[in-house]
Amino acid sequence: MIDLPLFARHVKPVEKSFYQPEIQTMPVDNIKQLQLERLKNQVRAALEKPIPFWKRKLEESGIQSADDIRSLDDLSRIPVTFKDELRESERLHPPFGDYRGVGREGTLKIGTTSGSTGVPTTTLWTKNDLEAEYMAGARNYWRGGLRPGMWIVHAHPLGIYGSSLFTGMLEYMGTCPITTGICKEEAELESVLRYLEKISPDYFTLFPTSHARFYEKALELGLDLDKLNLPEPSTVWPEAQTDSVSSGIDAFAFLGTVCHENNGAHVHEDLVILEALDPVTGNPVPDGERGQLTISTITKDNFVLRYNVEDIVRIYRDPCPCGETHARMFFDGREKDVIKVNNKRILPLDVETLLNKYTDSSIIRYQILRKKKGADHDLLRVRFEHAKAGTAEADSIQTQLSNNLSDALHVPVTVELVASDVIPRDTFKPMWVVDEI
Ligand SMILES: [Zn+2]
Repeated sequence: MIDLPLFARHVKPVEKSFYQPEIQTMPVDNIKQLQLERLKNQVRAALEKPIPFWKRKLEESGIQSADDIRSLDDLSRIPVTFKDELRESERLHPPFGDYRGVGREGTLKIGTTSGSTGVPTTTLWTKNDLEAEYMAGARNYWRGGLRPGMWIVHAHPLGIYGSSLFTGMLEYMGTCPITTGICKEEAELESVLRYLEKISPDYFTLFPTSHARFYEKALELGLDLDKLNLPEPSTVWPEAQTDSVSSGIDAFAFLGTVCHENNGAHVHEDLVILEALDPVTGNPVPDGERGQLTISTITKDNFVLRYNVEDIVRIYRDPCPCGETHARMFFDGREKDVIKVNNKRILPLDVETLLNKYTDSSIIRYQILRKKKGADHDLLRVRFEHAKAGTAEADSIQTQLSNNLSDALHVPVTVELVASDVIPRDTFKPMWVVDEI
């Protein structure tokens, strides 16, 4: 059996650290030069093809030709684009909008976004687009220890959602993908796990919630865990959400993964330009501060320019001891999950990191109750699944937790303990923030 950890934080450096060493260790100045050339190519395509949506954006900013982009600083002249604008473009110019570099002719793969932030949009991938994603994905998963010939289970949702991109990337790497879907029904999960026990895969790439559910079910069924090769989900901690980062299938799916230095996910800067913008001023925030992830995809046919994906990230550009020269990024959460308390912006990660100290469970199950998105609160209300809920000790634990969280977050907090199974077991994208209206 191959002892294969999913991400490099769990492994020693392996025989070949990089999938494409010449790109991944390229001097920073060369990366910047490449970015400038590639950005100019995209601007040229937008203006000369033309691509109406992006042409309008560029003209609004006074950019009339690719030569108007003289340095990477000129990127900030281009207006930021939000998801709602892509939705509106698809509504006005159905079915695919007027923001595509290449339309139906030339498309090799189609998929929708998951719709977790509203109406899904369509993503079209050309051969060139797939090559960019697959190459990036291969770099990412190579870092984590995946190698050609391995059999890899993944449980991304099936259907029109664009998860077949993940399957395609695993095939590109030369691994054998085993795509189970999320197995929403218990009977389905049982039959899938019994089958997997029979064929003994090399590794599971599961979201933490899926991992916990698959593992609990395998135990319940009394399956042979060595044969199934499903490790105990004991190494799931809140910060693990930065092990693998994405800007969504509509921008760039395989954005980056963490190296063995465990110091943020390296992002492929030869394929994208990263920015973290202040949500109020729209200006880039200093490295290390939280800002909204804004992406320009500089090699795709169906590209985006300064697309604000409304994720909250921190970017670091200081050298990483692993030798990769590309910037590192921490994904801290989504703008839609920000809870404003006394004008302080709090993310589920901030709460989860603190709750992590108070549970023996392999996954922290909690909810933050919010009046509505964007509302300001005078109190942070948290529900926390805990073995002592309903016991005589519950009151004192609640009080202690409320005080500890208040001290750490500098806002008033109340924590209510709830019994197991009160909080839904979502297997794909958990809803940690619940709006009460
Ligand atoms: Zn590194």
